[in-house]
Amino acid sequence: MPVKDLTVSGSPDLKPDFKGENSAANPPAERPAARAQKVGFVSLGCPKNLVDSEVMMGLLARAGAELTRRAEDADVIVVNTCSFIESAQQESVNTILEMAAHKTGGKAKKLIVAGCLVERYRDQIRKDIPEVDAVVGTGELEKILSATGLSSAPAASNSPFVVLNSAANSVLPSRAEGDARAAQGRFSRESWEGAVADLPNYLYDDATPRILATPRHMAYIKIAEGCDHPCTFCIIPQLRGQFRSRRFESVIAEAERLAQGGVREITLIGQDTTCYGEDFGLKDGLALLLEKLAAIEDLRWVRFLYAYPNKITGKLLDTIAGHEKICSYMDVPLQHASASVLKRMKRGGGADVFLRSIAKMRRTIPDLTLRTSFIVGFPGETEKEFEELCDFVREAQFDWMGAFAYSDQDGASAYALEKKLSPREIERRRKHLMGIQRQISKKKKKALVGRKFDLLLEGESDETELLLEGRTAMHAPEIDGKVFVNDSPDGFEPQPGQFYRCQITEAHDYDLVARIL
Ligand code: SF4
Repeated sequence: MPVKDLTVSGSPDLKPDFKGENSAANPPAERPAARAQKVGFVSLGCPKNLVDSEVMMGLLARAGAELTRRAEDADVIVVNTCSFIESAQQESVNTILEMAAHKTGGKAKKLIVAGCLVERYRDQIRKDIPEVDAVVGTGELEKILSATGLSSAPAASNSPFVVLNSAANSVLPSRAEGDARAAQGRFSRESWEGAVADLPNYLYDDATPRILATPRHMAYIKIAEGCDHPCTFCIIPQLRGQFRSRRFESVIAEAERLAQGGVREITLIGQDTTCYGEDFGLKDGLALLLEKLAAIEDLRWVRFLYAYPNKITGKLLDTIAGHEKICSYMDVPLQHASASVLKRMKRGGGADVFLRSIAKMRRTIPDLTLRTSFIVGFPGETEKEFEELCDFVREAQFDWMGAFAYSDQDGASAYALEKKLSPREIERRRKHLMGIQRQISKKKKKALVGRKFDLLLEGESDETELLLEGRTAMHAPEIDGKVFVNDSPDGFEPQPGQFYRCQITEAHDYDLVARIL
């Protein structure tokens, strides 16, 4: 199996020859004379986890390791895990076991498990999977060096890598809301057998080496880590710690450097990007950050994901509407629309409040693309509450929508709630909701036929080499539908990472077909 999902594409910090396995053919002069350790990564879960993988790869590369995409060639395999829901945990365990086979029957000498699963089941992983040599939690990314047996010594002075400056993060402020929740035990892991007592507190900065695993033209920037919200179905606050933001200047410096290196699209991420800056007293921090990023000349698109519904301010909407480079795109996970379910989820809000808020978003940003996600089958969800959600979806007319089946999380407070629904009923409801959205999406996509957009060409389609594939500003990387290109002017030489004007010629339920003009 290839070490999947990580197409190491280099970053502005790196010499051009340092591209995963390609570097083996042409090692940089400052590498140690002894054969470099080959390290392969499997990164599971969300883009936030991907950035952690990129940071760990950067740290390892700076210490002299060579990255490989092939598990068969790796001396060390790192699995960066996800623990969001049961199916993600299962996928993580399956992947660890799959990679363990490269140690027992292959070349690998070390297997390291990192990420959210470690924060939840640290001791159990080591006990139950003896092939695992070391675990690295979400707050201890720098430990990847000692886990692989590499030194953390700074690189030689002529190194292409900058020196990690973790001191910048040693004293982190916090939000009053987070402190209050901490006092109420929101972040406690006492009942979790085998979890370390210390909550993760790490946050990378612009001086941390990082190797992009995304295509060269796009990058994620993690602007904050952790979460202070009390959602009863979620253990991310216990896994990732209290909310903390990166310094404003650090985010800007990183974005400028990425843009200089060829990145044209930046997607800001964090568990909750709309709280950005509150921990160091910044009001409307996300809006200010977007404004500043939009002024970086070489960037073409800037967007952010994961807005918390009641943290969307007028200033944020005005800022999106007022800057061409800020994509008119918002991802606001609402989780449900029935006020009683939302109350049990400890999130607040309800269909009426949300509809008013959506109307305001669309008034302020007329070409807004709106994405959301829901959890279906929360404990005690009645037919009536589910119908409220269905009615809301029909009325809100989202451009993109995801629906997760509720699954019990040991350690989340919803675990103790009564009236659990059967997995079969939950799946029935999830499919029903997705069926409603499919019709909405089909209608919305059909309405785009004939319209012209800027298209970021990504390259050959994954589905067939006869088609090209790209995205418009309506499509966030990796989560939304696709735009297939089946027509272009004579002599057209496609350049992945370039922007082209296109016209939509066909629409499917979720995907579009376009021709390059
Ligand atoms: S906002 Fe809620 S669902 Fe999202 S990470 Fe925070 S606690 Fe979890």
